[in-house]
Amino acid sequence: MLLHGASAHAYARATHRVVDDVAARLATVEQPWSGTSRPELAALVDAVDLDGPGTGTDEALRETAELYATHAVWFHDPAYAAHLNCPVAIPAVAAEAMLAAINTSVDTYDQSTVATLMERRLVEWTNARIGFGGGDGVFTSGGTQSNLHALLAARERALAAPDGSRLHGVARHGLQDRLRILTTGSSHFSVAKSAMILGLSDDAVVTVGTDDDGRMDPGALAAALATTERAGDVVMAVVATAGTTDRGLVDPLGAIADLADATGAWLHVDAAYGGGLLLSRTRRHLLDGIERARSVTVDFHKTFFQPVSASAVLVREPADLARTAWYADYLNPASEADGAEEINQVDRSLQTTRRFDALKLWATLRAVGADGIGEMVDAVCDLAAAVHRDLAGDPELHVVSPTDLSTVLFRYQPDGVTAARSDALVARVRRVLFDSGRASVARTVVDGRPCLKLTLLNPTVTLADVRRVLGLVRDAAHGILAGQALMDDAPPCRDVHPRLDRAGGHLATGDQR
Ligand SMILES: *Cc1c(COP(=O)(O)O)cnc(C)c1O
Repeated sequence: MLLHGASAHAYARATHRVVDDVAARLATVEQPWSGTSRPELAALVDAVDLDGPGTGTDEALRETAELYATHAVWFHDPAYAAHLNCPVAIPAVAAEAMLAAINTSVDTYDQSTVATLMERRLVEWTNARIGFGGGDGVFTSGGTQSNLHALLAARERALAAPDGSRLHGVARHGLQDRLRILTTGSSHFSVAKSAMILGLSDDAVVTVGTDDDGRMDPGALAAALATTERAGDVVMAVVATAGTTDRGLVDPLGAIADLADATGAWLHVDAAYGGGLLLSRTRRHLLDGIERARSVTVDFHKTFFQPVSASAVLVREPADLARTAWYADYLNPASEADGAEEINQVDRSLQTTRRFDALKLWATLRAVGADGIGEMVDAVCDLAAAVHRDLAGDPELHVVSPTDLSTVLFRYQPDGVTAARSDALVARVRRVLFDSGRASVARTVVDGRPCLKLTLLNPTVTLADVRRVLGLVRDAAHGILAGQALMDDAPPCRDVHPRLDRAGGHLATGDQR
């Protein structure tokens, strides 16, 4: 059962069977997911006897695929357009099989050897793409951890004594209460969550104003910097976003860097979404100024088409990451911290045991080249631009925000449908599509009003595919409104819950299910 020399054949057999099964499913999947109801799924999950005798590898994997793969959400499906999930690069998936079997932990050199060197090479490569002359960094589980780590590093710098040592006791806590993070209301929620985890005060996150589109307004940032200083508070970090999660907007990094430089503030650029622009030959300029950040978050599992998880936190000054290091005699003794003998990535990480996610990016870069990834990023941005153009003047679907990347925020509101009714439709349309399994779109709130969201992260999707999804949105909205009209006419005695008919795309009311 365990993987070793004598079981190599059993390993190959089990893995090939799984691969063949997934390949067969990929070839036949026709919609993002099965649409099976949650009670039905819960019953299937609960029916499995986890305390029973083992069934053997073949049967266990067959049963597991039947449960999981049959009902999973397939991000590669053209009608999946909800969140920041991408179809994954084949070399990366194959590399995932390699790293899973070898099971390297990239914490200390003696557990990882060449893997540590490969990860460090990719950190250097990413830093060179950013434009840091040197720097340091480490792979993480995702943008959330990357942001947390960057803000931890910023906190440690803010809480360092003049000689660079850590402040302690009352001096530390008094100062920590006055630390502020300046960012817009569109920055990722992990920024505010990090402030909570880092023990900052409840009002640590200061919201900076934006321009009409939603990008950080440098004038508002200048004012917020001045106000913070006047109040006797300390700017721990300015967080700019290169690709906001909802609108896909890039804050004006150069102007923000000017202000950060002038005040000595730590600039963190959250490029979890927009990081792929580093490889774009047509849109790289959107990231101009990112090289002036002190820390950067990049999510390879978004715009680099990597399987979850793959992200990195990068810093311009190696000392900034070193401030967050912790040493243990059994693992990474402080005497080795200079890296002369062995280089231990655990010094740089919030994790200890850690996956060798870098291998996936390595294999992908070698397979398609950096330009190849950049072209895929451009393809999804071009597609979003085409959808925005397509919807201009649409009588029913109104785009509510521009994008620099690949999201489409829109609302169903034809003439005669009130704003309140349009708002109420958002959650119901999403639900009808999701329940049908035929399309997955997201919903969010922009400028205080709900709207629907497409996140386009599949470079093989065409405008026709997106039009089909938008057709399902229209069908769902028409069906819900028709159901409501029915209820307006009749005494409100039946619960009208429209669903998309699986085969047709026509709507059936709940009692016809
Ligand atoms: C997705 C995202 C994150 C969080 O990244 P995870 O990998 O999901 O943890 C952070 N910031 C931005 C701007 C994001 O879009």
